[in-house]
Amino acid sequence: MPIRYKYAEEKGEYIDSYYSRTLYNPGKFPTLTDDINAKVCVIGGGMAGVATLHSLVEKGEKAVLIEANRIGWGASGRNGGFVSPGYSQGAGDIVKRVGECHARELLSLTTDAMGIINRRIGNQGKKLKDNIPGLLDVSWFDEPGTVEKNVEFLNDLMSVNYEFWPKEKIRDYYHSDHYYDAFLKPNGFQLHSLNYTIHSAREAEKGGARVFENSPALNISKTTNGWKILTENGSVTVDELVICCSAYIGSLNFKLSTATLPVATYVMLTEPIGDRLKDAIKGKWGVSDNRFSSNYYRTFDDTSLFWGGRVSMFRPAGKKLEQIMKNDLFGVYPQLRGVRAAVAWGGLMGYPVHKMPQIGQLEPGFWYAQGFGGSGMTSTIAGGEVISNAIVYGDERYKLFEPYGLDYAGKPFGPIVAQTAYWLFQLQDTYKEWRLNG
Ligand SMILES: Cc1cc2nc3c(=O)[nH]c(=O)nc-3n(C[C@H](O)[C@H](O)[C@H](O)COP(=O)(O)OP(=O)(O)OC[C@H]3O[C@@H](n4cnc5c(N)ncnc54)[C@H](O)[C@@H]3O)c2cc1C
Repeated sequence: MPIRYKYAEEKGEYIDSYYSRTLYNPGKFPTLTDDINAKVCVIGGGMAGVATLHSLVEKGEKAVLIEANRIGWGASGRNGGFVSPGYSQGAGDIVKRVGECHARELLSLTTDAMGIINRRIGNQGKKLKDNIPGLLDVSWFDEPGTVEKNVEFLNDLMSVNYEFWPKEKIRDYYHSDHYYDAFLKPNGFQLHSLNYTIHSAREAEKGGARVFENSPALNISKTTNGWKILTENGSVTVDELVICCSAYIGSLNFKLSTATLPVATYVMLTEPIGDRLKDAIKGKWGVSDNRFSSNYYRTFDDTSLFWGGRVSMFRPAGKKLEQIMKNDLFGVYPQLRGVRAAVAWGGLMGYPVHKMPQIGQLEPGFWYAQGFGGSGMTSTIAGGEVISNAIVYGDERYKLFEPYGLDYAGKPFGPIVAQTAYWLFQLQDTYKEWRLNG
């Protein structure tokens, strides 16, 4: 059955965004026009699919990848670019759910992923990664002692070296009255996620993989030894397949499609701000705050500001979206009033109810990796690693994700329930702010 995309105008080419405007390698991968065979086919060319392909190639398995649009066309080529370990579900909640030992193993997959991304970036430098290391998590709430305690907890649980910053220090660099204590993740960094995803796909191709764009999987059928995947103009017959289609999966597989909710989130790039930027922001670190619907941002050398935030099931676009994002920015930094947007865009994240990645097999040889939510930069890489290790070496670490199954996310009513939940969470944040900050 053909896949229907709600936003037909987005299908095929990259949307207008900071990423597509600064794409360094616009060359296309071919469209699949033959009937081919391979041991493994990955469906979906976002960070999860490309990481799986690249990991397979690094282990000697020359797999095939088919992408419906362009490599990195989905969330992976539109996101905030903040790379740090962890999952959408908080570390404390993971411990509560699976116990400390299991949680440590799950989290270590994402700290390992940081090293994998850096290794794959190699000498590509600034094209893929901003040179300033470190990401800041800032508290929106005046809760003395809470951030410090959390830093101690995370440092012990994840073997990281996060650094506590008191309110005075963060306000020296970021002049917002909304900010209280903070912590720095010294190894976190800012990635050009579209250039990175394409680079990783090209490296996999150099290693012998075959990558096809504008080749949506339309149908999957079982064969005697595996699977046959039909595209518009060709097919791939394989022993094993890996579905990594996230929120853009459409109707390709009912079980996978109904296990996550597509949640929209947004980014705006401002025009260069000039000297006025220093009235608000002096630090070069990427920043995010700890509200449910938080803002995250980073600055570029030309003084433009990359400003992200909001989650919703409704999807504003164009000038309306620019205005919404500017209002958010001026709420945090009123001194930047009047700054103009260069472009604003949105993307869909796949969110499971339990906020943890869904990684496993529907049946032997039919793999999936999805549901990375808003924390996918390292967890997608971790997903690619455990699945490729399972396929090539029979490694069973992918089973660490077994407690987080394909729970039904409530489609088609889920979006309404989810939107109501977001509003309630936002109200909770407002109440907490009123109670603690006065
Ligand atoms: C605006 C925004 C900001 C974010 N910021 C951050 C951040 O700062 N840090 C962080 O860690 N995470 C962030 N995230 C989350 C992160 O981007 C995602 O978790 C991650 O990119 C998910 O990768 P993916 O490969 O699973 O999905 P996607 O990147 O969405 O890729 C899925 C791909 O599957 C393809 N596809 C779908 N159906 C088919 C089919 N039938 N055949 C072939 N291909 C198909 C789609 O075309 C798409 O390219 C953000 C997300 C958004 C949207």
